[in-house]
Amino acid sequence: MPSTVILEKTIYTIDQLGEMPLPQLALAGRSNVGKSSLLNKLTGRKNLAKISSTPGKTRSLNFYRVSPEEFYLVDLPGYGYARCSKTEREKWATLINRYLKNNPRLFGVVALLDSRLPPQALDIELITYIRAQGMDVFPVMTKADKCKQPVRSANQTAWQRLLGTEKPPLLISSHSGMNIDKLWQFFLEKFSA
Ligand code: GDP
Repeated sequence: MPSTVILEKTIYTIDQLGEMPLPQLALAGRSNVGKSSLLNKLTGRKNLAKISSTPGKTRSLNFYRVSPEEFYLVDLPGYGYARCSKTEREKWATLINRYLKNNPRLFGVVALLDSRLPPQALDIELITYIRAQGMDVFPVMTKADKCKQPVRSANQTAWQRLLGTEKPPLLISSHSGMNIDKLWQFFLEKFSA
């Protein structure tokens, strides 16, 4: 039976979180990294997650329930949007902090990274922070179709060295569909173990 994905809950402050009964895997990334496009590709529905024309506007946590496997994919708000005010950034940090810290059912965080860029300070900072909370980080590199093979290979290797992972990050493209099945399989395996 194919999985279904339904947006079940959206919260803007941590008080709205309540008891989430299922295991969770979060998706994080800089604004514009392609997170909404990936969610839409995974859910097979156009514009379920709004593709941003103004990056950085979404400030909510969105819980997508996957059935019949019964887990949540959690869409964390994008970070690092340059025109974002200090207050906005602080709000983002507080929400993420609280979500990551008080959540025994959160299994890990998929860190979305732009395959066109070498490791960026903001991404490294977030990954370091998540790992410091004792949480697993699964790096995934987006927009592979937009990037020439030697460049993306070099960036993959740089990330692998930096993160000390056994394998290089998975390269995906929501536009061409490259490795989307593989990523989905990876999610399902995490929750069927
Ligand atoms: P978000 O801010 O992380 O949610 O990013 P979006 O999904 O809104 O994508 C930002 C921009 O990148 C949009 O113009 C998308 O069409 C584009 N984009 C997203 N994924 C891909 C991809 O795999 N390939 C290409 N070429 N463009 C992409």
